[in-house]
Amino acid sequence: MRQVIEQLPGYLADQIAAGEVVERPASVVKELLENALDSGATQVDILIDEGGEKKISVIDNGSGIPQHELLLAVSRHATSKIKTGADLAAVATLGFRGEALASISSVSRFEIVSRAQDESAGWGLAAEGDGRWTEPQPKAANPGTAVHVTDLFFNTPARKKFLRSARTEFSHIEQLVKRVMLSRPEVGFKLVHNNKVVRQVFAVTDEVSLKKRLSQLMGAGFVDQSLRIDFAAQDIKVSGWVGQPTFNRSQTDMQYVFVNGRIVRDRLLSFALKQAYADVLYHGRHPAYLVFIEIPHELVDVNVHPAKYEVRFANGRWVYDFLRRSVREAVAKPLVAQAGSGAS
Ligand code: ADP
Ligand code: MG
Repeated sequence: MRQVIEQLPGYLADQIAAGEVVERPASVVKELLENALDSGATQVDILIDEGGEKKISVIDNGSGIPQHELLLAVSRHATSKIKTGADLAAVATLGFRGEALASISSVSRFEIVSRAQDESAGWGLAAEGDGRWTEPQPKAANPGTAVHVTDLFFNTPARKKFLRSARTEFSHIEQLVKRVMLSRPEVGFKLVHNNKVVRQVFAVTDEVSLKKRLSQLMGAGFVDQSLRIDFAAQDIKVSGWVGQPTFNRSQTDMQYVFVNGRIVRDRLLSFALKQAYADVLYHGRHPAYLVFIEIPHELVDVNVHPAKYEVRFANGRWVYDFLRRSVREAVAKPLVAQAGSGAS
């Protein structure tokens, strides 16, 4: 028998949307870190309890959110990052969907405390996954934002069942945080698990601190045996560090590519890098690299998948070619590349 059509209550719609974005604790951390970075934070602390299943807190010193916008911040389809279709076509921030906080707060016990840079006090809001938010409460806080996510998936048992051990969930978080640390040298990060500092990196201010941070994250061997690259052409820039062919690995575990500061999983880019090393590596060996691609925002579509790991290039072939040629020139002719010649 047919039932009548009814509009879903907002919190249920949010839980459904959360299914696409919030797969596990690491996805929560990703969204909260993106928000912290978009807010211009220079320091971000990530505090995790029991693999994130018990608690995830992300605390930043960024712009903060004024009291009168707090409830909007946690509402679905509310964002400060894009306003028009033209903005959507040239997204310059990590976030733009206006969904993360609504989604996360629909599947956890959630608290946000924020103090806008020009306000003298912070304000907090909380909810328990049913869309019923407390009135804003004044809170002692430093300028910036703190989000506390407790008991993730407590009200969505089907999703909770798929969580692995705290140790496994934490290792996903750690890998994600490491990527973010690599993507933003100018930001300090601290990752704490069960009250123990697991990783801490300081904002890079000069060449010395840059190398130090890089060896913390990629290992001293990589720093010693990699070449710095910096190639630019009209509308594209490829920079970073590419491991020399002698520094090859049995796995693809030291391969990092960022597009406009965004973590991406892109087969085209991985393939371009693989091809760049094709002549200088034995079969079955893999290069190590940390590559930053910068291209105008309007030439990359970031609105491909809710989790935002995928991007589409307006001209993929051209990105592929430029990346492959640049890296190949560096790894095949290290001395020439170090002298700073451009790709041809
Ligand atoms: P999106 O990031 O796609 O805009 P979110 O749900 O993640 O959507 O966040 C909604 C809005 O809340 C953001 O657009 C931003 O204005 C504000 N916000 C969220 N987190 C922070 C933060 N850490 N610092 C400052 N503002 C934030
Ligand atoms: Mg966001």
